[in-house]
Amino acid sequence: MTGMARDTPAGDLRLADLTKRFGSFTAVDDLSLTIGQGSFFALLGASGCGKTTTLRMIAGLEEPTSGQVLLGDTDITRLRPYRRPVNTVFQSYALFPHLTIFENVAFGLRRRGIRSVDDQVRRMLSLVQLDGLGPRRPAQLSGGQQQRVALARALINKPQVLLLDEPLGALDLKLRRQMQIELKRIQTEVGITFVHVTHDQEEAMAMADTVAVMNAGRIEQQGAPADLYEFPATAFVANFLGQSNLLAGEAAGASGGDVAVTAHGARFSVPAGRSRADRGPVHLGVRPEKLHLVGSAAQVPHGHQHVTGVVTDASYVGVSTQYLLRTGWGTELSVFAANSGASTPVQVGSEAVAYWDPRHAFLLPRDAADT
Ligand code: ATP
Repeated sequence: MTGMARDTPAGDLRLADLTKRFGSFTAVDDLSLTIGQGSFFALLGASGCGKTTTLRMIAGLEEPTSGQVLLGDTDITRLRPYRRPVNTVFQSYALFPHLTIFENVAFGLRRRGIRSVDDQVRRMLSLVQLDGLGPRRPAQLSGGQQQRVALARALINKPQVLLLDEPLGALDLKLRRQMQIELKRIQTEVGITFVHVTHDQEEAMAMADTVAVMNAGRIEQQGAPADLYEFPATAFVANFLGQSNLLAGEAAGASGGDVAVTAHGARFSVPAGRSRADRGPVHLGVRPEKLHLVGSAAQVPHGHQHVTGVVTDASYVGVSTQYLLRTGWGTELSVFAANSGASTPVQVGSEAVAYWDPRHAFLLPRDAADT
């Protein structure tokens, strides 16, 4: 047996009820996911939530306690790592220091007994924009270049799935941004499934076509970056992806296409299509850039909703000014005002009104664990 064929499309990658326990600790908890063939998929979560363990089970480096890993119709759960059409790029690059760049990239082909490797290696080096650097050794390359070698080495065997475990973690911010764009280009060019693990929400959103947010061994929500950001499913996702203002309130049911909410004595409404709960304890959420600051309630446009408070902080961060507004009931709301030249700065210490279009708000169920 030579393992699964690498050149025929394998289909979607499916994790079915996948669980991994270390002793009594559950690192991955009954996780089910479908990762579309050819997609750029990001597994996003805080340190320790089980991302790497999930990746290692896909690679075959960790045996699941229960559940299955399937590629198309094939169950690969018990297949040895080297028999899977799956390759991994690690943060540490794991290059062979004594081999040239050319030989590092050629390694996978040589191991499979392929003698004539020149054309393929050259094509790979060109794909990752390292033409001409074949004779060097890893120590003679920058961190970003070494990362590209690791990528070329992982891609040369034409895996069906490429796993990337925090591959940009060791790079500085500017190089990271550059490599994010580069990785997207490469993924589009080779067309294979990329599963990218990161704790950096901006990185996940910038690169992936689908993001799954992981928390305590489970998937909280998955979807296109804009859908997750604009309409999060849980308070955890709302807070993990960007910043959110969440007002604790009580929903009184839907009528006429809107859900009525009472929060801190004030009445609000949210369109039913933006509500994940319409009765009982809820969070009314509005993103900071969807809030606008004005001096008085008389300036609030018709059909918008508002809260009044005192500005306690204003931070100029170039593209925007980020305000904190302390409401009458003591909550602090974040308001991001674009520094486009159109808005007048609001003074710290002054009274102000934050207003929003209800179509930009969202309503989430609030459970006992939430604030
Ligand atoms: P990070 O971003 O820090 O790598 P992660 O989300 O990738 O975090 P994992 O490495 O998957 O998290 O670890 C998930 C949990 O499982 C952690 O609490 C970790 O301590 C635990 N864990 C991982 N491997 C083992 C092991 N071999 N034995 C015991 N516990 C482990």
